[in-house]
Amino acid sequence: MMDKNTVLKELQKINYPGFSRDIVSFGMIKDVIIDQKNIIVFLSISSSNDEKKLQIVKEIRESVKIDGFHLSVKVIEPEENRKTVDTSNKHLNVDGKIGNIIAVASGKGGVGKSTVALNLACSLSLLGKKVGFLDLDIYGPSLPITFGINENPEVKDGKKIVPLEKNGIKLMSFGFISGNQAPVIWRGPLVAKMTEQFFRDVEWGELDYLILDLPPGTGDVQLTLSQKIPMDGAIIVTTPNDISLADVRKGADMFNKVGTKLLGVVENMSYMKIYGEIKNAKEDSNITINNHLVNVKADGTFEFNYSLFKNGGGKSESERLGVSMLAQIPYSQDLMLSIDRGTPIVFQDNSSDVVKSFNGLAQKIIDNANSE
Ligand code: ADP
Repeated sequence: MMDKNTVLKELQKINYPGFSRDIVSFGMIKDVIIDQKNIIVFLSISSSNDEKKLQIVKEIRESVKIDGFHLSVKVIEPEENRKTVDTSNKHLNVDGKIGNIIAVASGKGGVGKSTVALNLACSLSLLGKKVGFLDLDIYGPSLPITFGINENPEVKDGKKIVPLEKNGIKLMSFGFISGNQAPVIWRGPLVAKMTEQFFRDVEWGELDYLILDLPPGTGDVQLTLSQKIPMDGAIIVTTPNDISLADVRKGADMFNKVGTKLLGVVENMSYMKIYGEIKNAKEDSNITINNHLVNVKADGTFEFNYSLFKNGGGKSESERLGVSMLAQIPYSQDLMLSIDRGTPIVFQDNSSDVVKSFNGLAQKIIDNANSE
């Protein structure tokens, strides 16, 4: 299997010019990222001799060949000169006055990242906050559908894009301007550049929270975005099965690398509430559902939370990573239908488990921001 170590082994064959020591043992390889069929080697050389730097880059490109993969080299500044993510100048990078920029990420697609991001934005708005939502998921912009929008945003003076507004939330999506035609030919650097530019071109006005729906994955695109966009915190959405959880680890590493605070993990589709009623139930009845013994109440009703995946996976992983488990969102058909209909569930019914969990999540985000 192709992994980081395979690449490192190849890199170990390259010596620093004029030395018999290799560039890996010199600590010049800061990271290796494998994103689908791309390998990116992050190289940091403290020497001010540009010729030497170029020579090493050339040698890596020429001698490290891994079948089926495209390798690129990124030269980064040595640690001491390197800028960390500077959120103090975010008001310069962003058009508007934004209190908190919160990114919602996931290791892979389909875990409910957009669903969580959108409903979090709605819950924050319900709690009285001024909220913006930016759908940066350029490969699959969801906002035009999930919020039931088919208008185009206005462009002011040919420069600034004015976000659309629905249910009091300012909304912007790549889908609004690209007509939902995901530009699939865009790759890493171009995606990051376009997104960064897009981010700057939107006129947000004054907001308490801007929620970013990041593209799925923890590869180069996300890494670059996290470096360019001044995020105050990130949330990782996962489902409680092993593959998604492995992705959480990668996501946490990525945010660590760029100095973005990981606020915690949201476990989606944690369980499904099963409820029903037995007519003429005798006292102290119980019923077995998928090998679980469930008590039937005196009025004949019963309910239990059925784990669709491994139980407690998100919890153990968040503990291991030392980050909080911010919410456990149940599987809910109403939630799914609300997404399809473009009418966010948190605006409809605040008594269900699913809405309570979104409101709880929003409250934690507010509490965290207040404690900063
Ligand atoms: P992602 O952004 O991670 O690709 P989405 O938010 O688009 O995922 O969700 C994928 C699908 O799963 C959508 O059809 C959505 O309605 C559905 N979905 C997400 N979360 C839930 C949930 N808790 N219960 C039921 N369906 C869900």
